[in-house]
Amino acid sequence: MKIIETNSPEETYELGKKLGEEAHAGDVWTLDGDLGVGKTVFTQGFAAGIGVTEPVSSPTFTIVQEYHDGRIPLYHFDVYRIEDPDEMEEIGYDDYFFGDGVCLIEWADQVREILPDHLHRVTIEKNLEKGFDYRKITISEEE
Ligand code: ADP
Ligand code: MG
Repeated sequence: MKIIETNSPEETYELGKKLGEEAHAGDVWTLDGDLGVGKTVFTQGFAAGIGVTEPVSSPTFTIVQEYHDGRIPLYHFDVYRIEDPDEMEEIGYDDYFFGDGVCLIEWADQVREILPDHLHRVTIEKNLEKGFDYRKITISEEE
């Protein structure tokens, strides 16, 4: 387990970028943390690390947004609105999870029942006592 502390969106972006540079096809990354904590900022860095040049935002009307202009495909999920894992079945999630790209799932805890065993877990937390822009980012590997 690794803990990284950041004090600006740029630092969180850079961390995401470094991890995106090291990401492999078949990896599944989960991102948890409250609204506005920096999951999308992290994802934007991660995408840049993969070589994606298209603008990355949270998928609003779709569960998954695909980016194909990087080194490997990036499948960016935001499952915030999912109420039932069946909705993940409908989009054929396993083709993404066990496919040729990297999956990054915001609010992964919402769909924990269907996540694969091997995961890269990222949790982002605020601590207002340490400042408005402080974030504690915990990265752990799950076998
Ligand atoms: P989420 O996707 O978790 O809802 P966003 O990434 O959309 O959150 O938004 C995070 C917000 O917090 C942005 O407005 C960003 O500028 C701000 N912010 C402040 N400090 C940090 C930090 N250390 N890391 C990431 N974002 C930060
Ligand atoms: Mg977001």
